[in-house]
Amino acid sequence: MPYRWPTDTDFAPWELDVVDRHCSVCGRRMYICDHRYRHLHTLEGPVELVCKLNHCPDRRCPGHTKTKSPEIEATIAPPHWAIGWDVFCWIGHRRFARHWAIPQIRAELLDAYRIALSDDAIGQYIHRYQAMLAARQRDPVALLRQYQSADELILSIDGLQPEKGHETLYVVRELTRKRVWFAEALISATADEVRRLIARAKGWAEALGKPVGLWLSDRQDAFVTGIAAEFPGVPHRYCQNHFLRDVAKPVSEIDSHAKVQMRKKVRGLRKIEQAVLKRQGVEAPGDAAGTDTEATSRVTGEPADPAAPQADAAGGVVLDYCAAVRGILNDDQGGPLHPPGLRMAEALDEVRESIQRDLDEKKGGSRSSNSGAWPAASAGASTKSGPNKRRSATTSRTSRKSRRPSIRRGGPAPSVGGSSRV
Ligand SMILES: [Zn+2]
Repeated sequence: MPYRWPTDTDFAPWELDVVDRHCSVCGRRMYICDHRYRHLHTLEGPVELVCKLNHCPDRRCPGHTKTKSPEIEATIAPPHWAIGWDVFCWIGHRRFARHWAIPQIRAELLDAYRIALSDDAIGQYIHRYQAMLAARQRDPVALLRQYQSADELILSIDGLQPEKGHETLYVVRELTRKRVWFAEALISATADEVRRLIARAKGWAEALGKPVGLWLSDRQDAFVTGIAAEFPGVPHRYCQNHFLRDVAKPVSEIDSHAKVQMRKKVRGLRKIEQAVLKRQGVEAPGDAAGTDTEATSRVTGEPADPAAPQADAAGGVVLDYCAAVRGILNDDQGGPLHPPGLRMAEALDEVRESIQRDLDEKKGGSRSSNSGAWPAASAGASTKSGPNKRRSATTSRTSRKSRRPSIRRGGPAPSVGGSSRV
């Protein structure tokens, strides 16, 4: 992808030489015949690579018409890229280990490193990163190394449907090393197709020379027959996650009911937001038909205006709280061990405590918050327990995708800062 550099870019020059200067055809010592200049971003700043190109001096040698580039160039950046490996790895890590969205990656690259890349370019680099990672995951040498000390293998297979109506992605994982071996999307998951995947896993196990001690799955028919056929005598157990989910069904239903009840009680966010925005002279977001995300983005954008008068700062805090509560009410994450309704109750409790702290601060008092003040928040969940609370509250905060500000125990809504403004 051609990259447009600002004319005033200050490049650091990096001169690269060919190390092995013997002609690969005749063995004669080669000479520098040309220079190739190349610009790229590194985390240390923009760089100009000056690549000294060599060729064989003997006109009759086929090595004469070819040039050799410095060997080290490929360790700095692959051909034609506008970024070095360091930036590439930074992007891939932020995307896949930190789960950042592309716009967030773009903004951080610009802010922290002054690297300007388009969303499209970042998307393409991420795609390549993924391809390289997949290739590396399958590298037989690396795999052998990783399984050297393993006594036996525990394999699992499961079908995932990232989007309803699309083909199912079948994933084979090895559990002692917590490693995805391979994944394949099957349009029709017939018994034969599934068995082919299981046979492939068998091939991998044989290549590693390790016995398979156990298979885990949700025991759908195709898995049961396929594993029995390819791995005779190997036990095949019901995956405990699926098992737990089935066992917890009655609890999940009660939890879901509690969630509905809480959502019924905590209402009127939009009215509050509209009132604040109206007071601030901003057009209120459309009627109730407008989507929640739209409202949230407007809301979180508000309080940053430093010129806003005192009343607007207070309004900003209110809007932040609304965004936080909306995030909590829309959060449906969590399995049977972290029921979403329970987490919702805990998160709403935190918001209530945070508001109470704001009020206490305003009154100048330090009296502790009265947890009976807002019974709605905990109405649905009677099993709220002290020591467990911090942990699950943290979980709920990190797993939430929305931009809601985190409600910290130590202070009021943080994105606005000083509590004295409330
Ligand atoms: Zn030569």
